[in-house]
Amino acid sequence: MKTIMVDMDNVITDSIFLELINEFLGSNYKREELKGYYLQELVKDKKEEFWNFVKERNFYEGASLFEGCYEVLEMLNKVYDVYIVTAYLWNDCLDISGDNLRNKYYYLREKLPFINSDKYIFTTNKNIMNFDIRIDDKLENIENGKIKLLFSAWHNTDLDDNYLKEHNVIRVNNWNDIEKILLPLK
Ligand SMILES: [Mg+2]
Repeated sequence: MKTIMVDMDNVITDSIFLELINEFLGSNYKREELKGYYLQELVKDKKEEFWNFVKERNFYEGASLFEGCYEVLEMLNKVYDVYIVTAYLWNDCLDISGDNLRNKYYYLREKLPFINSDKYIFTTNKNIMNFDIRIDDKLENIENGKIKLLFSAWHNTDLDDNYLKEHNVIRVNNWNDIEKILLPLK
């Protein structure tokens, strides 16, 4: 059975990270108008205050799965060996990283009950592992996959189609795209 690495943030769900930033700043940022990968850059010099503000909050509370994610993952999980591989450390605030890991764990258990908990991999460096197929919104996380699917997100929409082609990267905009590529392959 082929292995698939599936990223969590901005592939399975957007979490409520941006909503928490907006609540903290009193702002109304939308994902599509942002550029940088790290949303926490939006709080600029108020980082310490921000992490204090979100200390007790769950970044996944009320966060919905992306459309089609449940159905497609359930199908893929029957014909592939599916792993959810996700980073959980907040480098700006290591103290709440344990809570973040716990919140991710319970979110996955609740939302994707057909994936066994022993298929969760909480890590920082995804490139120390080998997978046949990689799905992630961050290019560097899919580089050493045999099949590389880049999930579209605000921070990667500027990546040139030719560049992606040269690097054998396939852009997917949603879970329906993933289904179309991976289910006929299995
Ligand atoms: Mg991600």
